[in-house]
Amino acid sequence: MGILAVGSVALDSVKTPFGQEEEVLGGSATYFSTAASYFTDVSIVAVVGEDFPEQHISFLQKLGIETAGIERRPGKTFRWKGEYGFDLNTAKTLDTQLNVFADFLPKLLAEQRKLEFLFLGNIDPDLQRNVLEQMERPKLVACDTMNYWIGNKLDSLRKTLARVDILVINDAETRQLAREANLVRAARVILGWGPRTLIIKRGEHGCLMIDRKSAFGTPAFPLEEVVDPTGAGDSFAGGFLGYLAATRANDQAALRKAVVFGSVMASFNVSEFGPRRLAALTYAEIEARFREFRELTHFEDI
Ligand code: AMP
Repeated sequence: MGILAVGSVALDSVKTPFGQEEEVLGGSATYFSTAASYFTDVSIVAVVGEDFPEQHISFLQKLGIETAGIERRPGKTFRWKGEYGFDLNTAKTLDTQLNVFADFLPKLLAEQRKLEFLFLGNIDPDLQRNVLEQMERPKLVACDTMNYWIGNKLDSLRKTLARVDILVINDAETRQLAREANLVRAARVILGWGPRTLIIKRGEHGCLMIDRKSAFGTPAFPLEEVVDPTGAGDSFAGGFLGYLAATRANDQAALRKAVVFGSVMASFNVSEFGPRRLAALTYAEIEARFREFRELTHFEDI
């Protein structure tokens, strides 16, 4: 049991209509692992620079996350700067500095190669495949990406997608990737490239899971206060894959429950800057919101 997560471990500078924070702990692997740590063991593979505060490593370790695979290298840590407008649904990237990620060649630890669940977080698709190729026999591979890689490394991304089971991306990325405006048709195009399931996150509108035979949709949890949506996608993925890894189930019913656990984790994450709220949760709070979700979407066929 347990998940290997590759992705960015970053210093983020984020501005939303409700505030602004500089150089906070962020990155796709960070948000994913923090969310998944409530369900199962997680081990990260990533790189940080000499400037990365040691306290951020302790933050992850306190959640029980295995950080031995986070390499520290000469140079600067990956940095991302983004801004959100009033609807908070789409991030505008102001700056991406790959820094130590530009020439990172991950070498998995022996224990990491054996893990059964793999999350290829948002990072260079060459790196995603490099990690995938070092795994012994993963049972389930889920993947995320973003406009930056769709725009800059499409050929490589297509090669990664040919080898993953589940792709988790947002609606704008789905349209951009498939070059198709209609979301359902775009999903069909992408399913033709390899993944057997596509999960399309639609911000405050919830999410849609599509495979070749069926579709399943959930709303987002109706929140009165959203402060910073950064990491919502990755915390969704963490709750989703964390639940599947913990139960070792992979059927339609489990996938649907996993989507709800993903939505629960994302809903907690957006109420504060950085992964702070996510890190302070109890499992009882997660379960309570899961039940509220059931209430939210339940109706009788009378
Ligand atoms: P999301 O869950 O989509 O909001 O992801 C937010 C995280 O993605 C931020 O913490 C960023 O550090 C990270 N990020 C932004 N751009 C990139 C990129 N090009 N590659 C890898 N990670 C990124």
